[in-house]
Amino acid sequence: MIKNIIFDIGNVLAKFRWPQMFRELGLEGETFKRVADATVDSPWWPEYDRSRIPDEQIWKNCCALAPRLEKEVMSVFENIGMICQEYDYARAWIYELKAAGYGVYLLSNFGRTSFEIARQKLSFMDIIDGGVISYEVQEIKPDRAIFSALEEKYGLVPEECVFLDDSMKNVKAAKSYGYHAIFFENQALAKRKLEGMGVLAPGVSEAEDIKFMKEALRQAKKAAALGEVPIGCVIVRDGQIIARGYNQRNKKHSTLGHAEIAAIGKASRVLGDWRLEDCTMYVTLEPCSMCAGAMIQARLGRAVIGAMNPKAGCAGSVIDMLAMDGFNHRVRVTRHVMKAECSAILTEFFLAMRARRGASDRLADTASQSGPQRKSCRLESDDGGVR
Ligand SMILES: [Zn+2]
Repeated sequence: MIKNIIFDIGNVLAKFRWPQMFRELGLEGETFKRVADATVDSPWWPEYDRSRIPDEQIWKNCCALAPRLEKEVMSVFENIGMICQEYDYARAWIYELKAAGYGVYLLSNFGRTSFEIARQKLSFMDIIDGGVISYEVQEIKPDRAIFSALEEKYGLVPEECVFLDDSMKNVKAAKSYGYHAIFFENQALAKRKLEGMGVLAPGVSEAEDIKFMKEALRQAKKAAALGEVPIGCVIVRDGQIIARGYNQRNKKHSTLGHAEIAAIGKASRVLGDWRLEDCTMYVTLEPCSMCAGAMIQARLGRAVIGAMNPKAGCAGSVIDMLAMDGFNHRVRVTRHVMKAECSAILTEFFLAMRARRGASDRLADTASQSGPQRKSCRLESDDGGVR
């Protein structure tokens, strides 16, 4: 079974646009060719990617290949950030694959300096699961060593991975190492080839996820207004919200008062079915063990999570209950959607609570100096952390 998708970057996720870059630098005709021969087409270019030799030495070696064109050769290195440009589809494609439950990794030949500049412009770096770039391990594709480095770093098994690259040499090598591999020509064709391998990504869009997470945040604000820890949740089916819930643990004096439990109950009543297979839950904070358990019991199709909860979260933090092989159901999960906003609402809530506590303690201190000791008023909702 395929579990992971491994992308090359150049000409797969971002255009390796050196000819356009050369023209933008004013290199034309014979100069264009001689500078290309001294840089991207030179034997030093793979060494630049491998980064075993210091950049300065590579520049010197390249300049030596094009006497009297040193200035032009150096202009290529000085403007190396112009050499790649992300394709419009890259982030959406990775997002969709991640939403379908695949691990997404990068395996690319890039020199240290050029990658450090390029990564600033690549929009998908925050949603990938990881990757190995040639300069990090001083090995380049198609050598076995760089593939091994990726496998070891993330515990990947070649037979469970599809590798996509625009170089036939790299594709053939990957196959010989046991990977499924696709020679990348364009995205449409690559998607069809992935489907042929059973890699299906449902039509999930980040914009829609953000839209529904905003609704979950609206629910969280309702909890905050009641002095409850602000956690909100909505359940969506066929593009429609069918249930909403927010944390009411204190109001209901119930451990079961979590947002997810409330929403699951409502969704089941609406559908007349305890199974929520076609549903997506949007929740502002990573579910606890009870809620993750309920999500598995409900056979929930997908969960979209805002902030993670390192001390109690059971969708990847303390444990990943939603992806355990032992259970009879796995929930597809997308994490960190509107993470900043979902974290901020909690931080603001606890800061405000501490400020109120501080004020009531000060009041109690003043009272104790002038009369009988009074017990300071404490908010009920805090148990020392988020759930
Ligand atoms: Zn919970």
